Parts: sequence; structure tokens; C-alpha cells
Amino acid sequence: MANLESAGTTIYFETSLAPLMEIIEQGKYSKVFVFTDGNTSEICLPVFRSLLADFSEFDLIETDPGEENKNIDFCIGIWKTLLDFEADRKCLMINLGGGVITDMGGFVASTYKRGIDFINIPTTLLSQVDASVGGKTGIDIDNIKNMVGTFTLPKAVFIESEFLKTLPERELLSGFAEMIKHGLIADAAYYQSLKTSDYRNLDPAAVFRSVEIKNQVVTEDPQEQNIRKILNFGHTIGHAVESYALNSRSKTLTHGEAIAIGMVCEAFLSHRYCNLSTEELADITAYFCSLYPAYTIEPASFDALLKLMQSDKKNEHGQILFSLLERIGHCEYNCKVTEKDILESLNYYNESYNK
Ligand code: ADP
Ligand code: ZN
Repeated sequence: MANLESAGTTIYFETSLAPLMEIIEQGKYSKVFVFTDGNTSEICLPVFRSLLADFSEFDLIETDPGEENKNIDFCIGIWKTLLDFEADRKCLMINLGGGVITDMGGFVASTYKRGIDFINIPTTLLSQVDASVGGKTGIDIDNIKNMVGTFTLPKAVFIESEFLKTLPERELLSGFAEMIKHGLIADAAYYQSLKTSDYRNLDPAAVFRSVEIKNQVVTEDPQEQNIRKILNFGHTIGHAVESYALNSRSKTLTHGEAIAIGMVCEAFLSHRYCNLSTEELADITAYFCSLYPAYTIEPASFDALLKLMQSDKKNEHGQILFSLLERIGHCEYNCKVTEKDILESLNYYNESYNK
């Protein structure tokens, strides 16, 4: 399978990590750290070790798993651990885990002593198709996602389907939502092909295509000034629903479940504002309802959700902006929507499982 070049970073696919040793040797690093969470050190580290049998000279830094730990307190702990290990600016950090590990590990690496090299080995489907491209690092503040972070590119990224074999079904489905999004915003034929595929047994070529789409968009607009905003389809409402669930400690949602909800709502808004056809709206709604569990966006939370949307990083001059579909495969950005219609879209989602 081919590699992808992304702004100077190579994304390697299905190489069994073979090029990694060479990168480490060429970098002449003073020390190598592998950063994991409790789960990935137990489940993914043995795979990593078996693929790189000759490589044992690294120190392990482990953190607690889960989005709730992607925060500044854990970063301070990791910075201090690096100091305890006497890590200098010539050391390398290998982030082995899902998005929490690659986002937070990238953030820690990009700021430690003003920046050390890091390599990402995303081990969840979500982090493979989403966090692997674009150089965004970040942590959450008060459960608002990625409020503090940098644009810093990893030295390399490795995508290996081997790691997905141990991933729980719910996590696979979470990443699959981003793949569907890539089809919806940029490639109608890819969307159709996903509809006939099984997310539990994905073809690595489908993962490749998803990363390729994201890479094309990000390459065109690395700093998210314009076209990159289309990747936020489903995320204006999805992030608000996700943050609200995280804050209220009610039923928690995976990122994919939250943006699946967001994509149904924003498909409704696309129909209202961007001429998405009735048929395509119905198709998108039915597909998400067939894959993701029903959820109720409590009407009592609507005001709080609007407030969360107002704090979205994409907004300009206090106006909530959306990326919306003109049709499947084409997305517009900077769409202004009234609050009344946002609330209607939440109601549309709540009724969509009864259609
Ligand atoms: P993401 O944002 O990619 O969903 P997380 O880093 O929160 O990321 O990962 C989701 C969960 O899956 C975490 O509990 C993590 O420890 C676990 N995990 C990550 N990779 C694997 C894997 N390959 N197999 C099993 N569990 C994994
Ligand atoms: Zn996302």
C-alpha cells in the first residue's frame, strides 16, 4: 500500500512499522520515549514490541486512559517525568494510542523545551482516520475539547490495521463516523461504498481513502482559514452534545456517536440552507440511525447546547458558523444559521428514530 505525504510528514500504511527503526537511527536521538495509556501499554505495546523485536531502548511513560484525562494536570505530570528522565531537546516521543494519546502526547512534545520530535502510531480507528493528519495537538479545558493546543507536525505517522483487532466494537463505530463524514463532504462514491461495507472488518484501502481525503483538504488549507472547515461537518452540534454529556456525567457518548448525532442535525440544516435534497437527507438520517444507538437530546439541555456552540473555535464575531452539505460529496462552510433552526434540527434528530 502506498504512503501519503502530508506537509513534509510521511504517513506509512501497513508497513508493520518497518521504516521506524531507520527514522530513529537517522534522527540520532538522545533518548526515545514511548507514551501510552493503561490500556494501550497492556494491549498495543506487546504488538509494538513484537513488530520491532530489535528495539528495546526506550522508556515508557504511561497515563490514565480516557478523554477526561486529556488535561493540563496530566501534561504537567508528563513534563515532569521527562525532566526526571533528563530528557533533552534531542529526544523522541512515540505516541502509541488513540486520539487522547496522540493529541496530548503531541501537545506535550511540541511544548517541552519549546519542542521535541514525536511520531504518532494511532491505535484506534478514530485516531487513524482523524488525528493522524493535520498536525493538530491539544488538550481539553473544563471538558471543552481541544481548547489549548498547537499546530505541530509529527516526524512520521504509522497506520497499522493490526492494532484495530483488539479495538472494541463501539470504538470502531466511533471512528467509522469520521469515515462516513469524509464521504459526505468530499466523495459520494466513497460514501456509497461505506454503506455496503462492514465496520467490524474494514478493508485497509477504505481507511487509506479516508486519510487521503482528509489529507487533500488539510494540504489545501493547513491553518483552517477556509476549506479545511468542511471537516467540521457534524461537529458544531456534535461537539456541543459531546461536551454536554461529558459535563453532565449523564450517558457518555463516544466522539463518533456525538458527531453522528451532529451530522443528522446538520444534514437537516443543510436541507434548509444549502439545498440538500429531501431524498439525500432521508438517506443520511436512515444510515446513521441504522448504525448508531438512539439517544435523546434532552430539551432541557437546549440552552446549554447553544451556549456551548457559541464557544466553538470556528466562530467569528460571535456568530455560530456551520459547514453544511449542498449534496452528498460537496460541503460549504461559514454558513450562518438562526438559533431557531438549530433548535429545530435538535428536535429533528430526536424524532429521527421514529421515522
Ligand atoms: P480516540 O479519541 O481515538 O477514541 P482514546 O485515546 O480515548 O481515543 O481511545 C479510546 C479507548 O480505546 C481508550 O480507552 C484506549 O485506551 C483504548 N484503546 C486504544 N487503542 C486500542 C486498541 N488498539 N485496542 C484496544 N483498546 C484500545
Ligand atoms: Zn471529529
